[in-house]
Amino acid sequence: MVKQVYFNDVKFSKYSTWHRQQHNCLNFSDIDQVSSCNACLEPLFLVETVFYNNQKLIKPHKITKRLAEMAGIPAYILWYRTVGEMMMGFYVKKIAPDYQGGYSSEPKRLTTDQWLQFLEYKQAQHFPNCKKQDLFLKKLKEDPRAKRRRAFAPILYK
Ligand SMILES: [Zn+2]
Repeated sequence: MVKQVYFNDVKFSKYSTWHRQQHNCLNFSDIDQVSSCNACLEPLFLVETVFYNNQKLIKPHKITKRLAEMAGIPAYILWYRTVGEMMMGFYVKKIAPDYQGGYSSEPKRLTTDQWLQFLEYKQAQHFPNCKKQDLFLKKLKEDPRAKRRRAFAPILYK
């Protein structure tokens, strides 16, 4: 039996399709995003991404939340809005380790630049504990766009 598919923009791999065609006593879950350090590859947080098409802002997330708790890292649900290929903005809800308001809580609306700032903030926050600081600094100094980002200024100019 093929399990119900309820996301419009998901393209399943051949393995995923095969798995979903098996009996009902197995389960399978994809992790959409493991945000990791650009230098040492340490996982920083998990993100469950959802294409936003004016549906209700709720999304099953038990496995992502549990996995984040087990790993001791945060997890988020991120609804993204597009027009054509252009990213228009996000709704974000933190689901681990703290989960204010629980399942029915309202996500925060963020612009694309606010979410980008958050991604940069998480990379910068990790930097003092990074095992490959020299590599990150090298990459940062070589990337003119990254060098201009505010979150990285304390790393570049300390
Ligand atoms: Zn690192």
